[in-house]
Amino acid sequence: MRGTSREIYRGFVLDYWRKPVPTSDYDWGWTHVDYDGAPDAFDNRAGYAPTRRAALLCIDEWHEEDFLNREECDEHSWGHGDQCVGCGEYRSLDL
Ligand SMILES: [Zn+2]
Repeated sequence: MRGTSREIYRGFVLDYWRKPVPTSDYDWGWTHVDYDGAPDAFDNRAGYAPTRRAALLCIDEWHEEDFLNREECDEHSWGHGDQCVGCGEYRSLDL
C-alpha cells in the first residue's frame, strides 16, 4: 500500500503512513477522536498496528472492554458518528 490514508472507525481515527523504520509494526495508527495525549492523562485510546485489519481489531478490543462498563441498551438509537445516543456504543462495520 502506498501513500497515506485516514478514516474514522467506531469513534477512532485510523491513520496510515509508512514509517521510516525497518518494521511495519507502526504503519497503522489508531487514535480516539477525544484522545488526550498529555503524559499525565494515561489515556489508552491510541496505539499502532502493522495492518489495517489489526488496527481495526485493536479498536474492537478497546470497545469490548469499554462495553463492560456500560449500561445495557434495549434498542440502539444511532446518532452522529455512528454512536448510540442511549448507551454510547459505536456501530460496528462488517470487516
Ligand atoms: Zn445503545
